[in-house]
Amino acid sequence: MKDSLRLWWVATSLTGLAGVAGPAAWAQGHAHVHGQAQLEVVLDGAELQITLSAPLDSLVGFEHAPRTAAQRQTAEAALRSLVDPAQLFSLPPAAGCTLQDKSVDAPTLQAAPGAAKSGEHADLDATWRFGCSAPAQLDRVKLSLFERFAPMKRLTVLVAGPAGQGRYPLRRGAAAEVPLKR
Ligand SMILES: [Zn+2]
Repeated sequence: MKDSLRLWWVATSLTGLAGVAGPAAWAQGHAHVHGQAQLEVVLDGAELQITLSAPLDSLVGFEHAPRTAAQRQTAEAALRSLVDPAQLFSLPPAAGCTLQDKSVDAPTLQAAPGAAKSGEHADLDATWRFGCSAPAQLDRVKLSLFERFAPMKRLTVLVAGPAGQGRYPLRRGAAAEVPLKR
């Protein structure tokens, strides 16, 4: 359901963009690989939507409801970051972007201890939607996800906007900034 909602949004939001062929490829979804995560950045007019999809392990290092005090602390810190995207990425101030809406879908992190069976995998999806008063100034996004989430080793960033689309495979330790314009 989460995926179909997101695909609906991407399909709807990109209909006005000429020459964007990417979303169909994105629609195939992402593999569940520990240490990896995917970020979709879509600029449509004055609206910027950023979506993070990741195995829970890539964010907190486990995929069950928190059991220990340390795991509870890690889970709470992760959830706090996810509802405050300024901790995860920064946008050029000149673009005047303000957060309009957000959703964090992490049932396992919010579940009671023992709620998830051991051996199961779990994912996390989070979406943030911004309205930007000067979207032409939105030339880059600077990412702090590697700093926030220690287990994250690789982050694939998919960008779609008026200037076209791009795919940026980022690794921990390298510059974590993606251009929104060419
Ligand atoms: Zn897993």
